[in-house]
Amino acid sequence: MIRDHFRVLIVDLSAGRSTITDIDGRNTVAGGSGLAALLFEKYGILDKPWNEPGQPLIFAIGPLTGYFPLMSKTVCAFKSPYHDQFAESHGGGRSALSLRFADYDALVITGKAKTPSALIVGSRRIEIKDVHYLWGTDLQFTGKALRQMFPGAGHRTILRIGPAGERQSPMACITADTYRHFGRLGGGAVMGSKNLKAIMIHGDSSFLLPEGKDYVTVFDKVYKDMTDTEMMSKYHNLGTPGNVRVMNDLKALPIRNLQATADPATEGISGERFAEVALLRNAACAGCPVGCIHIGFVRERFQEENRYLYRQISYDHELIFAVGSMLGVMDCFEVLKLIDVAEKMGLDVMSPGVALAWATEALAKGIITEKETLLPLAFGNSASYQAALQHMAYGTNEFYQLLSQSTAKAAERYGGGDFACVLGQEMAGYATGEAFFVSQALGFRHSHLDSGGYSYDQKPKGKNVEDAVKFLIKDEKGRVFLTSMVSCLFARGVYTDEVLGNCLKSVGYVALADSMDTVAEEIQRLRWKLRVMTGYSPENVSIPKRFTEITTWKGQIDSVFLSGLKEQYASAILSLAGTDTKKG
Ligand code: SF4
Repeated sequence: MIRDHFRVLIVDLSAGRSTITDIDGRNTVAGGSGLAALLFEKYGILDKPWNEPGQPLIFAIGPLTGYFPLMSKTVCAFKSPYHDQFAESHGGGRSALSLRFADYDALVITGKAKTPSALIVGSRRIEIKDVHYLWGTDLQFTGKALRQMFPGAGHRTILRIGPAGERQSPMACITADTYRHFGRLGGGAVMGSKNLKAIMIHGDSSFLLPEGKDYVTVFDKVYKDMTDTEMMSKYHNLGTPGNVRVMNDLKALPIRNLQATADPATEGISGERFAEVALLRNAACAGCPVGCIHIGFVRERFQEENRYLYRQISYDHELIFAVGSMLGVMDCFEVLKLIDVAEKMGLDVMSPGVALAWATEALAKGIITEKETLLPLAFGNSASYQAALQHMAYGTNEFYQLLSQSTAKAAERYGGGDFACVLGQEMAGYATGEAFFVSQALGFRHSHLDSGGYSYDQKPKGKNVEDAVKFLIKDEKGRVFLTSMVSCLFARGVYTDEVLGNCLKSVGYVALADSMDTVAEEIQRLRWKLRVMTGYSPENVSIPKRFTEITTWKGQIDSVFLSGLKEQYASAILSLAGTDTKKG
């Protein structure tokens, strides 16, 4: 049965206590992104640093989780170690359905455990367990150990961190069930700061599906659109790695620290090449009939025993770009080895890849030396990059400690800011043009998924600043509502406003269905308000020179359009936050 309020589990690690509380707001913030923002407004300490023990780590799901396919994401919210501001990161796997089956709309974790711990949560069980013996172990070992210690299957998720999270690197991710991640902006460091090695959520309860034929009719349509039409098949077939060739053909693929945007050698890491030689199988998040997760393999040799083992590693476009084209590594098995190292260390793959690309160019230019890098970093040298990723995770020396904070911080210390490929955070794998650069640089999550700037760049729309800003704001609003439903954004072609409205009504959220537009606006406003109140100044974001030096299929980047768009988008964000004249 649906509830009009949110049922939230709050765990205080310092006190070793938990409470379950009902919170109003279903018809104003819906769930997911909206609920996470509401909870951050309630429990976040806006003027204290991200690692203050009282700061909350929030996981929130949406009203349609468990009722419809691909409502499979969990929104994780926290004050980010990357910039000390309110942030969101989205992850899938079994996390969302496990929370639904445990009968919680959200989990809020505050405080700091006395010793390295695992938090175990279910509908009838909440436990904080000392796992100090797992501190320092990599994610592969931790995963195996946790599965043995807490056997179980079905709706159970294991969220865990590696050495990078323990060391509180802002590039540390939270890994969900091995192949999915709360990747960016340092959720892993927040867990590390709370002495939390792992969270296990047992979906050990059940819930009833709506009676009557409306729900079945709507479900059938959604399911058919996802499985019988072309709308989703591209994600299953080649998947996002298919973008490598597309972006390269458009001269929009960042290569060797964005010194180039196309190179025939990228064929060695195209989605087609991966599918031909390295793809083992597809996998899916719980509740998803599409299965976009592509899993490849590398062979590992055990010298002493003279035997080999296959290791399975998931890959997608962003990862191939970050440790492939960006590092000049053009062999798919070498890319998988690099992903594997980052995964074991609990590093988000994207930011370290882009950071190492900057370090490589900085070394070649003599801005830094091997005294700092400890390795002969050079484009294409996969072995050096594998070792460098470990240095970043463990913070071996001052240079790697700084680089694992952010590329911008390293460039601030050593120089080379002009060619640091940073758009709010390390760039995503699309060099499509001005709208994308501005949307990632200023966007809420500094993600390519905040709004469709990359698609705007690919449409013959001309260079009208006002038109581009309107597009970014409107597109963001639609996406914010989808992430408040916790829909996988790959399903945005299926979940149109009309379909979402029908879905909500069919399970009983009639008032929410009737006010979707107003609710979306409210959530968009609330998120920006909190972001600005925690220190964000979009007008101060800069876009490094490298982004103006490139050429795409449209020609040279237009610096005048870029800066006009940046200025007006910043002002639109402040206006949304309600702080366009004065912050606070
Ligand atoms: S399409 Fe991919 S990311 Fe989205 S829910 Fe399905 S498996 Fe997960």
